[in-house]
Amino acid sequence: MKKLLIVEDNQIILKTLNDELKNYPNIEPLFAKSYKETMRILRENRDGFHAALLDLNLPDAPDGEVVLLANSHHIPVVVLTASSDSKIKESILKKDIIDYVVKSDKASIKYAINAVSRILKNYDATVLVVDDSIVYRKTIADSLKKVHLNVLEAKDGQEALEILEANKQISLVITDYEMPRLNGLELTFKIREESKKDQLGIIATSSASETDVITKFLRLGANDFINKPFSHIEIITRVNSNLELLELFSGIRDLANKDFLTGAYNRRYFFDAGTAIYEKAKRKKEPLAVAMIDIDKFKNINDTYGHDVGDVAIKEIKKILDANLRASDLMARFGGEEFCILLENITIEDTQLLFEKIRNSFEKNIINTHDLSISYTISAGIYYGLATSLQEMIRLSDEALYDSKENGRNRITIKSS
Ligand code: GH3
Ligand code: MG
Ligand code: MG
Ligand code: MG
Repeated sequence: MKKLLIVEDNQIILKTLNDELKNYPNIEPLFAKSYKETMRILRENRDGFHAALLDLNLPDAPDGEVVLLANSHHIPVVVLTASSDSKIKESILKKDIIDYVVKSDKASIKYAINAVSRILKNYDATVLVVDDSIVYRKTIADSLKKVHLNVLEAKDGQEALEILEANKQISLVITDYEMPRLNGLELTFKIREESKKDQLGIIATSSASETDVITKFLRLGANDFINKPFSHIEIITRVNSNLELLELFSGIRDLANKDFLTGAYNRRYFFDAGTAIYEKAKRKKEPLAVAMIDIDKFKNINDTYGHDVGDVAIKEIKKILDANLRASDLMARFGGEEFCILLENITIEDTQLLFEKIRNSFEKNIINTHDLSISYTISAGIYYGLATSLQEMIRLSDEALYDSKENGRNRITIKSS
């Protein structure tokens, strides 16, 4: 959840903003109608705000004083103004703001919310800036930091590859062309051996006069390019539009690979990603663990409290597993209230400890939902080792799960070869 401060005294605009914000479930808006109310809200929310959408003209602060107030709390600001007067525009731009929107119609309100949402998403996005020129690197990094992106820097292609290896969260690389050790084209080539255009974006920058540099970059798989020199607004606009495209791609991937109810991966993705993990383990002759988890007497929850409460119970499985698993563990919802997990680089003792801990977390957990307090237990079946195929490993873990159910539920069973 990201917190958004909205200061606006016009009821109609407030209603439009509120309606539009319903499309953004990850934004928590707090509203103020005056400067005085803004001061109170800032006092009451000491943990701060991620962004603010501010009206310049308030009954008790007619000249944008609220912008300075937000600035003093280090909150990035998008301004809403009723006037398109060029003098006012000049004075707005002198203030420390990220964007401004002239309120004219519904579309402008949509634009304003979109601008704010971009900043909020930036808090979770990381961009790697690669340039041997400190001046250019700092210029780009400063521009990006101003819109609250996380920025990493590399002085050449070689260092960029090392940083990429250690920071899998990077979603976009901005690279220069001419650099010592590994130049921008070589870097682009290397990156594309590992990641596709829709997974990791590359924007090339170059001041080289050769016209075919850009063509070469695009042919090697760069997503976009910017000619040097460039302005702050140019770099931000390009970066924003590339990040938006990458998010669209990632959303499409999620639709194909993830389960709608819980956000966990689906069975199809489990087999895609799991087969690669299985093949690698087989080459290295290293054991894997496959665990099948199933809620005990889940039909009772559905029958007693209804399907909606049942759904909450299923979502809780994902939460508890997320809290206990490592990022490298592959977890998927296989069906109803059944989840499957594939773990590598783990001993049988640690597997036992981990799933005993998970079983115990469910036993202790109480879910408060629909004015009810419910709890349930789970059973797990685990196969540890390397069977003839991933399918076979899953079948063996299912057999172990069956044993857990037969032996009284709320227990884990490990089989190994
Ligand atoms: P056991 O301890 O033997 O596992 O008993 P159980 O009652 O949990 O039995 P089973 O695993 O066969 O029950 C699965 C139930 O899950 C049956 C089905 O109605 C319900 N179910 C499947 N998908 C969903 C879903 O998406 N939401 C909800 N609420 N229920 C679901
Ligand atoms: Mg250079
Ligand atoms: Mg069950
Ligand atoms: Mg089941």
